[in-house]
Amino acid sequence: MHFASDNSGPAHPEVMESLLRANAGYAMPYGKSDLDAEAQGKLREVFEAPEAAVHFVATGTAANSIILATLCAPFETVFCSDVAHIHEDECNAPEFFSGGAKLTLVPHENGKITPEALRAVVSAEESRGVHGPQRGPVSITQASEKGTVYTLAEIRAISEVCREFGLPLHMDGARFANACARLGCTAAEMSWKSGVDALSFGGTKNGLMGVEAAVLFGPAKAWELELRRKRGAHLFSKNRYLSAQMLPYLSNDLWLHSAAKANERCAELTRGLSQIAGTRMAFQPEANILFAHLPRAVHKALHEAGAQYYLWSGELEGEDPREPLLARMVCDWSIPREKVAAFVDIARAADPG
Ligand SMILES: *Cc1c(COP(=O)(O)O)cnc(C)c1O
Repeated sequence: MHFASDNSGPAHPEVMESLLRANAGYAMPYGKSDLDAEAQGKLREVFEAPEAAVHFVATGTAANSIILATLCAPFETVFCSDVAHIHEDECNAPEFFSGGAKLTLVPHENGKITPEALRAVVSAEESRGVHGPQRGPVSITQASEKGTVYTLAEIRAISEVCREFGLPLHMDGARFANACARLGCTAAEMSWKSGVDALSFGGTKNGLMGVEAAVLFGPAKAWELELRRKRGAHLFSKNRYLSAQMLPYLSNDLWLHSAAKANERCAELTRGLSQIAGTRMAFQPEANILFAHLPRAVHKALHEAGAQYYLWSGELEGEDPREPLLARMVCDWSIPREKVAAFVDIARAADPG
């Protein structure tokens, strides 16, 4: 019963088979093999973006950092939510890779930033002339860190604010697939057609061993992105093994099917846990992440049964069995329906009422 994160699960068998196939003979290094061209081409095809610059890296932090460094001068600032992964979970890598650009936080609502809050924060960040930070890119996370999903209208409204101020829009899509499956739209609609200029396209959390794509939809800064990937130590000499993972992922909608499965398991988990007295969802689970306040007794029973997930606040040990403790649970593409059902059964049996 593994719900700690969607990166704790295995890679998809089709991905491993593709790696084995790629592991034959010789191929040109540093992204110059046929397989590399094929995988980049496949991504451009899926996104209906023949001009896009596509580079593979091994972590989401690298994708975010080299993109933001490409979009943000050292004297500028990146606007992002106060719970953004780039703010809370990347050890200041975006600031480091950009040569000292800063992040300016926009208070989130349900894990997302609103156009109004963004406009207010961007407006306030230009009053000190040469002395202050200059406005730089806006970064949003889709699906959000809290498991909610921006609608296409919401993305467009944010991109309009970006356009008002002449700022590029970056999307941290570590869970792009989960959001896209949820909205039932195309990859293009959820990105460049809604005004997104640059995308960190996730793969690792959805069935790859470790590949994310750094994508610029306009080709203008393609070469700079490539230079920053090399300088950022993410230009793989055996790049074919990254491409060998990305290619099957993007073929036959594997990326979407896997994400849809993860989302369905999360919906089942949400329904099951909602039947426990005193349960409260902290955010509306719209993708594959759930934040729930559950009674201590329920957490204890799950913990004793060996279930894995993070307690977000509070202590497992304590007096009151009814005291609600906040937990985060994440479903990956591979978690079986029976494991979700077993988890829910244990939780419900421990319901203190
Ligand atoms: C997991 C994740 C990333 C990437 O994290 P890495 O550990 O660097 O691969 C980026 N953004 C979000 C929102 C994430 O959840």
